[in-house]
Amino acid sequence: MTEPELPDGAAPDRPPGRAPDPECLFCRIVAGTIPATRVHEDEAVIAIRDIAPRAPTHVLFLSREHIPSAADLTPADGPMLGDLFGAAAAFARAEGLTEAGYRMVTNIGAWGGQTVAHLHVHLLGGRSMSWPPG
Ligand code: AMP
Ligand code: ZN
Repeated sequence: MTEPELPDGAAPDRPPGRAPDPECLFCRIVAGTIPATRVHEDEAVIAIRDIAPRAPTHVLFLSREHIPSAADLTPADGPMLGDLFGAAAAFARAEGLTEAGYRMVTNIGAWGGQTVAHLHVHLLGGRSMSWPPG
């Protein structure tokens, strides 16, 4: 019996539209064709220093998969998100940020301030944060 045809970029365990995008900056960083300072990597997530830090510590936790934003997540992404937030918590603890506190945020779309359409969660620490954000 032949396998059912899958939409472009889809795999049996991957929703359609998540193939690496050669135009995507963060897909290129994940692939290693654009350099970045990696502070963590595992099979689902990588973390890099932000090129324009907005706090003494500013790290981006990226899905390896090309997921355009948090608006595209599904319940099947739970393990990846647990991995991402677990890696961020471990990183923050190792950097000595946990006691004072820090912020994690993900921007979605134009009004959310998203400039790179590949899922990433910012970890900002080392200074006091104001609320609400601008
Ligand atoms: P956002 O605006 O929420 O989509 O976040 C994108 C982030 O990516 C910004 O904080 C940028 O400073 C950061 N950024 C852009 N290009 C690079 C790069 N080549 N390496 C690391 N961070 C980058
Ligand atoms: Zn991408």
